[in-house]
Amino acid sequence: MATTQATFEELKHAGLDEIDPDIAALLAKELERQRGQIELIASENFTWPAVLEAVGSVATNKYAEGYPGRRYYGGCEVIDEIEQLAIDRAKELFGAEHANVQPHAGAQTNMAVYAAVMEPGDTLMALRLDQGGHLTHGHKVNFSGRLYSVVHYGVSPETLTVDYDDVLAKAKEARPKVIVCGGSAYPRTVETDRFRAIADEVGALLLCDMAHFAGLVAAGLQPNPVEHCDFVTSTTHKTLAGPRAGFILCREEHAKAVDSAVMPGMQGGPLEHTIAAKATCFRIAMTDAFRSYQAQIRRNADALGEALLEGGLALVTGGTDTHLLLVDLRGSELTGKAAEERLHEIDVTVNRNTIPFDERSPFVTSGIRLGTPAMTMRGFDEGDFREVGAIICEALSESADLDGLRSRVAALCAKWPLYDGFRGYTHYA
Ligand SMILES: *Cc1c(COP(=O)(O)O)cnc(C)c1O
Repeated sequence: MATTQATFEELKHAGLDEIDPDIAALLAKELERQRGQIELIASENFTWPAVLEAVGSVATNKYAEGYPGRRYYGGCEVIDEIEQLAIDRAKELFGAEHANVQPHAGAQTNMAVYAAVMEPGDTLMALRLDQGGHLTHGHKVNFSGRLYSVVHYGVSPETLTVDYDDVLAKAKEARPKVIVCGGSAYPRTVETDRFRAIADEVGALLLCDMAHFAGLVAAGLQPNPVEHCDFVTSTTHKTLAGPRAGFILCREEHAKAVDSAVMPGMQGGPLEHTIAAKATCFRIAMTDAFRSYQAQIRRNADALGEALLEGGLALVTGGTDTHLLLVDLRGSELTGKAAEERLHEIDVTVNRNTIPFDERSPFVTSGIRLGTPAMTMRGFDEGDFREVGAIICEALSESADLDGLRSRVAALCAKWPLYDGFRGYTHYA
């Protein structure tokens, strides 16, 4: 069908490949890209087919500003059931008193919590971005750094883990309203009990941003931050393997402030198709199969770490408690940027990342960040990840045989097909 001449009736019944072959072809191309490379970006995953279906559903059509039972639009009775299921499942999965499942993404979860309990100019304390934090944890170019007065804590130069004495000393001096723990490139357990003690000592509220490791928490493989924190924020698309989105958990006393901060505070209509998919992702996260998947993510991260160390690379903190590893490249010829580019040439996708006390700029860096959630979703086990580790070490050496390495990558991808028989988008027919 030539789209420009299509009738209204034809437009109403045609699928994407008929109406927009450009986008259909690009989606197919993106699926082939995902299939043909080893995805090690620690924040990415391949979500479930069931989640893709929910995201592509008619719930996208509905305006539902407000909350279940309290909407500003008519016709929300079914949407209310969908959102309530998502809320109930989030609470059950993490043992939380209150859940808000409307934030469009992780950044909005933090924005909402800050807005719920702080005024512009109030003091926020969080881990520095270049030592593992996140942009929304008070970076100067981000809304969080522009609106609030920010004090950053860091990691200890010896252990490269959070320096709790430094956190306490800085908190005593700055008297923050909110202390944030968690980050995007921190390979070790976030000890929320120790942060709780510090928060109590200085009268601060405690927020744990578990965007990265929520899946491990759901599976009981990392301590549940809900126990010690006033607020817990998360994405659903990283280890949790759901749709691209966020959610907030909090104590009942903060429920109203959080809900108002999300809507009307910062968002309009919620993405109810994505909320339906969040409900599905939480349901899947309650299964034994999901817990086994998360346990495999952990074992694979350890296997990858051991292979990298055996191959002569260094790891920040020497290993990991989670799904992610930070490779310290200061002993090699390569910068983070060069390593990322070299690995891209053999179809291994990673991101450059600063390491603590990095002397290179954030654009160049001295590290790369690796994670195991996505390839574990494809089926990779410890043996496969030892091979991935060996491939990376050879690729980053001086005499790398890039053609040979590319075929070893292709063999691993062929061993574990991705979305077999799927075209990359739900077909309307
Ligand atoms: C990924 C991440 C976020 C932001 O999530 P987006 O969905 O990209 O907005 C927030 N905090 C941390 C710690 C993250 O890792």
